[in-house]
Amino acid sequence: MEGGGDFSVNAIRGSLREAAMRRGTRVLLFEGGEPGRSRRPCLVALVLLVSASGCYAPDFDVVIVGGTIYDGSGGEPYVADVGISHGMIEEIGDLAARTAFETVDASGLAVTPGFIDAHSHAEMDESWGSHGQEFLTQGITTVVLGLDGGGPFRVAERLDAWDRNGLGVNAMTFVGHNAIRREVMGLDARAPTDEELDRMKALVRQGMEGGAFGLSTGLFYTPGTFSETEEVIELAKVAAEWDNAIYDTHDRDLGATFQGVGYDASVAEGIRIGEESGLRVIFSHFNPQGANNYGRANVGAQMIEDARARGVEVWAAQHPYTATQSNLRSYALPRWASGGGTDAVLARFEHPDTGSILRTQIMESLAMRGGPEKIMIVDEDPDLNGRTLAERATEWEISVPDAVQRIIESNGNASVMNLELYDIDNTRYLARMDWMMTCTDGRTPSDGQAVTHPRVYGAFPRKLRQFAIEGDDIAIPFAIRSFSGLAADFFGLDDRGYVEEGRIADVAVIDLETYRDVSTMEDPHHFSEGVVHVLINGVFAIHDEERTGVMGGKALRAPWTHSER
Ligand SMILES: [Zn+2]
Repeated sequence: MEGGGDFSVNAIRGSLREAAMRRGTRVLLFEGGEPGRSRRPCLVALVLLVSASGCYAPDFDVVIVGGTIYDGSGGEPYVADVGISHGMIEEIGDLAARTAFETVDASGLAVTPGFIDAHSHAEMDESWGSHGQEFLTQGITTVVLGLDGGGPFRVAERLDAWDRNGLGVNAMTFVGHNAIRREVMGLDARAPTDEELDRMKALVRQGMEGGAFGLSTGLFYTPGTFSETEEVIELAKVAAEWDNAIYDTHDRDLGATFQGVGYDASVAEGIRIGEESGLRVIFSHFNPQGANNYGRANVGAQMIEDARARGVEVWAAQHPYTATQSNLRSYALPRWASGGGTDAVLARFEHPDTGSILRTQIMESLAMRGGPEKIMIVDEDPDLNGRTLAERATEWEISVPDAVQRIIESNGNASVMNLELYDIDNTRYLARMDWMMTCTDGRTPSDGQAVTHPRVYGAFPRKLRQFAIEGDDIAIPFAIRSFSGLAADFFGLDDRGYVEEGRIADVAVIDLETYRDVSTMEDPHHFSEGVVHVLINGVFAIHDEERTGVMGGKALRAPWTHSER
């Protein structure tokens, strides 16, 4: 894959500038060397530290001149200059006569807020993922993590580790129901005892006190799937002690769950949890799944509209791909067969009472997803990566259920994509909703991972290009708003998300002519194109289309206050 690379000069330049800005001083760099003679340029840094009262104090650290500002509000774009100092957007207007340490010519380019990935699996906890370059190259400066029930309850520790280790993008997290349930009850397929419910509530509280933005669930996944709605409401009420906190739901059943509750009931459940607990709701990657739900996006959208009309705050996020990514067990196994650990799952394949019904139901379960030829294995394990489940079974000369069993035996589980699970016309329809944010739902690939979902590299440019530039489903300012201001409003990031005086300088400069996703299903490891500059907290993360390597992101803690304090 692309990545790494030699960005030493830019890294040094950025670090010096950042260090100076943090101290309220300014830095000038003069670079020299022998171009063409040496791969490693000699950096002659003549550093002039000039205090505010010094001999030369330009008006701004950076001025972005002549760009067309899409400010994140959804309003008409306008041409103006943007002056940035001390990590903030200090002034917007005609700044041509003003001085700056660096002037960026943005004529003919769009100047936008840094984008907010409302549902992300950026690997910020891993040294190989914390640079966030797959995201920065789309213009994303903030990722929302801890979703699908997967967020930790040791939230304070996670945020502190991010601060300590450095982040390429801003990151925030939810506390995850699945992580909590697993800690307290293991993978048991039953309701909690009163004592267990109390322990789970304490862990929700621990997560919220640590800075979580709310509670996330993945009722589609093990062990969340064993929970009744009432259990989630009880836990959500704990998070709701923090004013404006959020419930993020990966639905129990988006329409392709074997023996599930169905799409409509699942949307109703998510709304009910918000309504009865008092949390504001966001539906993760909202879109009905499976061929039975093609053309039915209006049903879920109407349920959200009805809820909003009676005062429940319900929002959603989407990505523009028709394939999903999850894991083999969740897609192939009926719920009754997924409880317990790996040994318990494998025993059900072997047991005379359950083996044959399990094999039959694996095929029925896969049929709802388009069959085993639509299940593409994208696991880190190179022996599995890059083939469909159907191809694997044929190669191994065994049945599809036996191939599922073999993968669980050898690997425990496997990351898989489900091709063509979404209907693109549903996605287009939903893109028009004024409560629809944008997400990648993308997981940073590890180095050995040949095939991965291209959404991690390209969801934002793909949505803009398909629906606003080439298609006419939505206007460009509306799309940019769904990337930025809308999410900032929802997540309470009232100091980010807009190109507006007084906001933190998370800013992207984008060439809309060339802004496009390059990664495909067949060839997925390419950064998107067209992002010329990205400033994150006022520091260049991308400069003249080059990644600087600066770790300019911050761990974001929820701004909510506890109502009893
Ligand atoms: Zn997800």
